[in-house]
Amino acid sequence: MTPGPLLAATGSPPAAPIADTRVPVVIRSRPDRSVIDAMPTAGPLIDRFGRIHRDLRISVTDRCNLRCVHCLPDEDVRFLPRGELLDYRELTRVAEIAHRLGVVSVRVTGGEPLIRRGIAKLVASLSAIGFEDVSLTTNGTELARLAPELAAAGLHRVNVSCDSLQDDRFARIRRRGELSPVLASMDAAESAGLSPVKVNVVPIVGVNDDEVESFAEFARSTGRPVRFIEFMPLDADGAWRRDLVVPADEILARIHARWPLEAMPASGLDASQPVERYRFVDGNGEIGVIASVTRPFCGTCDRLRVTADGSLRNCLFAHDELSMRKVLREGGTEDDLALMIRRAVWAKLPGHGINDATFLRPERSMSMIGG
Ligand code: SAM
Repeated sequence: MTPGPLLAATGSPPAAPIADTRVPVVIRSRPDRSVIDAMPTAGPLIDRFGRIHRDLRISVTDRCNLRCVHCLPDEDVRFLPRGELLDYRELTRVAEIAHRLGVVSVRVTGGEPLIRRGIAKLVASLSAIGFEDVSLTTNGTELARLAPELAAAGLHRVNVSCDSLQDDRFARIRRRGELSPVLASMDAAESAGLSPVKVNVVPIVGVNDDEVESFAEFARSTGRPVRFIEFMPLDADGAWRRDLVVPADEILARIHARWPLEAMPASGLDASQPVERYRFVDGNGEIGVIASVTRPFCGTCDRLRVTADGSLRNCLFAHDELSMRKVLREGGTEDDLALMIRRAVWAKLPGHGINDATFLRPERSMSMIGG
């Protein structure tokens, strides 16, 4: 039996053959005409289930300088031609319209956002729009160099992905790069004022699941909130299996057994965030879990995404997209674009359906959507 790429990378034997779960794009459900007609064209950015959308994720590139096992294949990655990416003026225009429709927080992501040239210029334009929160997710490889410029451009804070605290394992998971510059980049971000630095970890059975306690200890000793994200069926290799997911309940129980935790009440912008936050009872910091697989939070989801090629997605697992690029490049007005955003939100399904028997993973993987 040949191990799938994810497990081969870590040397653990797979428990069962890994299925190729990639499937073609399928449209699962579309609202009928009367529902579409009922869409409000003024007021908050609301969907058919009453969820008001306030959070925008902008992917600035599908390219990445790493090949993390849970995200990208090691070889033969086909990236979008540059002409298909929205330019900064176009991305800013989308963000301005979303802000006008009531979006209050924006996150820049990718691919790896810090490898797109002149990224601080985009951050400055986004910051000038007046969002309450401007953040960015990065793998940390370019962060130490860019942190002062990003902070000066108006970035508020960063999430840095880091899936192991062991040098050799870190290298195997990322298949490129080293741990120490990423740890140093967190210091640099804090020195530049990009606080709090949150640390994203995707624990995977047989890969890095034995490091849950080490990451909790890291959160306690550094004061950096660690976010444990359940492994989702969005890896380009199609190696995801349910039994590779480390459930949030297990993560919390293991940490709580060593250092008692208590739930933190959600407030303000946090109230609709996917993260469930817990602080250590002894006052030494906090951790969070993002339980997309075992405890989906679709009922409070207020997030909208724009891919690097300008497609609006109302869910990570959506099968439908609306292309804003065409409208942007064919002279679409503010109203045309605002209507598109409203339509994307209005068409959102009640849930991602990841636990339904009929669930089909989307054709685009995480780095193409923007994590
Ligand atoms: N390149 C940046 C980075 O590494 O943080 C931003 C993009 S990355 C796609 C955003 C986040 O998605 C990272 O924390 C990454 O670990 C996470 N991610 C990627 N693939 C995932 C998967 N299959 N399941 C859960 N999280 C995933």
